Amino acid sequence: METKGQKGGLDLGNLKAGGFIKERERDLFTVRLRVPGGRLSVGKLKKIAEVAEKHGGDYVHLSVRQSIELIHINYRDFDAVVAELGEADQKVASCGARVRVPVACGGCEYNPNGLMDTQQAALEVDRNIFGIATEHHKFKVGFSGCPFDCPKAPINDVGFVAAVEPEINLKECIACGLCAQSCPSGAVHPGDDQKPVFAKENCLYCGDCIKVCPSGSWQVRQLGYMVFAGGKWGRRPLIGTQVASFLPAGQVVDFIGEVLNWYREAAKEMGRIRLGDVIFETGSDSLLDHLRKRFPNNVVDKAAAPQVILTRFRPSPTTK
Ligand code: SF4
Ligand code: SF4
Ligand code: SF4
Repeated sequence: METKGQKGGLDLGNLKAGGFIKERERDLFTVRLRVPGGRLSVGKLKKIAEVAEKHGGDYVHLSVRQSIELIHINYRDFDAVVAELGEADQKVASCGARVRVPVACGGCEYNPNGLMDTQQAALEVDRNIFGIATEHHKFKVGFSGCPFDCPKAPINDVGFVAAVEPEINLKECIACGLCAQSCPSGAVHPGDDQKPVFAKENCLYCGDCIKVCPSGSWQVRQLGYMVFAGGKWGRRPLIGTQVASFLPAGQVVDFIGEVLNWYREAAKEMGRIRLGDVIFETGSDSLLDHLRKRFPNNVVDKAAAPQVILTRFRPSPTTK
């Protein structure tokens, strides 16, 4: 690895873009690893531990975005660290104004609430668009396997929440009442004949009624991702706004690509700015119009601006 940069010194900007982050102490760096969806094979984990023990401090750090960070790595060891991690096909992440490593919950493989394969989606994003320069700012992507939304998808630049729209066919219903009991939002209640009445407007799209029904009366009408755009956390947080519904898994990468295309163009004169702030400045119609050309069946008619979350600290009563 080339560690020399401008004027013969280390180019910290380039290193950071490559996942090597300067620490407080001279010559030492944190090396952020690329762990799409937060999933690691046990083999990789062993190799990471081996490399950390050999080159780093006596601990590693788990970042809030599911990465493992090797702490206290001397820049003189970068080549060795990268080569040794490479033996287990473990790569280093990226920072800076790029598409970051996507985060995801466990999805539908083993989690009983999971509706879609978020791990597969995270791998697809990682394989196809990880590290692409946005020209403006960092760009984060996250996937939740169901409306519980443990990974908090709407605080990503583009966040995906798996959802299912149920439909009911009462022919086989045995009036057991389980669907009404299990519905978390009061969208199902027993009618006069004890068979369920569906108040669709209250539905959270969680699919619990489908899972619990012993007669197969509840079926899947639509399954896909609810898509949020323009979220971020930090000093000025924004909650992303919903821009599409029931996007099929196979269209996730293309969808993000189109958001990126719009972002680059719309933010041309705005410098270093996050997607959410661009939507805030321009309004969401332009983004929706752009996306609608490619995804006419999924893009919503209207979207509010990303929601501002006020997190300003208040001084204590004694601080005047
Ligand atoms: S979002 Fe849903 S599927 Fe994902 S971890 Fe949470 S409960 Fe499980
Ligand atoms: S999908 Fe969830 S919220 Fe909607 S009706 Fe079924 S149980 Fe209720
Ligand atoms: S769970 Fe199924 S069988 Fe039971 S009341 Fe609901 S629809 Fe009918």
